[in-house]
Amino acid sequence: MAAMSDSTLVPLQRLREQLRSPRTSPILPLQGPRSATPEPIDRLGRPLRDLRISVTDRCNFRCGYCMPRDVFGNDHPFLPQPQLLSFEEITRTARIFLGLGVRKLRLTGGEPLLRRHLERLVEQLAQLRTLDGEAPELTLTTNGSILARKAQALKDAGLHRLTVSLDALDDAVFKRMNDADFPVADVLAGIEAAQAVGLGPIKVNMVVQRGVNDDQILPMARHFRGTGIELRFIEFMDVGNTNAWQMDQVLPSSQVRQRIHAQFPLQAAASQRAGETAERWSYADGQGTVGFISSVTKAFCGDCNRLRLSTDGQLFTCLFASRGHDLRTLLRADQGHSHSDDEIAAGLRHLWSQREDQYSQLRAQGVAPEHRIEMSYIGG
Ligand code: SAM
Ligand code: SF4
Ligand code: SF4
Repeated sequence: MAAMSDSTLVPLQRLREQLRSPRTSPILPLQGPRSATPEPIDRLGRPLRDLRISVTDRCNFRCGYCMPRDVFGNDHPFLPQPQLLSFEEITRTARIFLGLGVRKLRLTGGEPLLRRHLERLVEQLAQLRTLDGEAPELTLTTNGSILARKAQALKDAGLHRLTVSLDALDDAVFKRMNDADFPVADVLAGIEAAQAVGLGPIKVNMVVQRGVNDDQILPMARHFRGTGIELRFIEFMDVGNTNAWQMDQVLPSSQVRQRIHAQFPLQAAASQRAGETAERWSYADGQGTVGFISSVTKAFCGDCNRLRLSTDGQLFTCLFASRGHDLRTLLRADQGHSHSDDEIAAGLRHLWSQREDQYSQLRAQGVAPEHRIEMSYIGG
């Protein structure tokens, strides 16, 4: 850890080198005492419930807060195909994790809908069961750009719900933010198609950057009120090392809420499930709810039950981790020796039981890892 520094000062060349060589450690030991309960608890008493699976590190957008074009340019070395986990490897991993207490699987990326035949993976994951014998909650986060084409196939394959990211209703603001000349109308058409095929309740994520799209807060609230879609405002986070994050670009959720409340009165919604990232508020006139994800100003590490699997099979116990854990080596024959599900489960149980991440909480105390993994690589 080091004192928090201005990430704009990191030279571009060094950033690119870091992106090419994420740090990883092996997952050990692969045998351990059989525990009475299969569900591991980390050092801060948190169970493992939510597995986020990145299916691609590629994206057709270049949102400045995630994949700025000057770093993720035409010559960016995205992962080559042989390094990606196959659908079978992902499904096996998910099955092992469900046996450790995971109940929710979220597909993400990069842009997950760019992974070819994604619906085949959804179909395989939908067959899996949790320790209680239930189907896991199966969801996906997308930028919505090709959702209109894919919604029916995803629904048919067994996807339950969707979160769509949309940062503005105004075309000029949105195009400036996605830096790919992509219009708002196509994302709205994707949301409509997803609703029509029954992929609801849909959530819409809006990253708020002060001075960039904060004038879109009220138009977005007005647009989605009364539609059954929950709009969630996300504070601009210092994830990764490439987005030139500055605290003064963060508009605290409390201020976003005040702006909405002045126009459309809000009241605190009933209590949330443990591990929920968003704090929910209801419109007093019964027109639905909005959510606030305040990882900068109101850390929610206390009940964080999420683990992330990168496209190339590295596990990250925190969104802000500086190091991954190499699962792919275990999934593929390791120097001629292939590992059983039980061996891998033992390694994963140990990994989770050693976890003590609470980055957002530490950030509030002014410390940050020098090298953070990019969100487009480990998934949002
Ligand atoms: N491409 C898909 C999308 O945009 O929905 C899925 C991956 S994206 C990394 C997942 C979520 O992370 C999106 O809602 C995005 O807005 C959010 N995100 C990315 N970078 C962020 C940042 N620096 N601060 C806050 N949220 C961020
Ligand atoms: Fe792509 Fe999503 Fe990142 Fe935007 S936030 S660049 S859509 S991965
Ligand atoms: Fe979880 Fe890490 Fe985010 Fe805290 S900072 S909520 S531990 S992912």
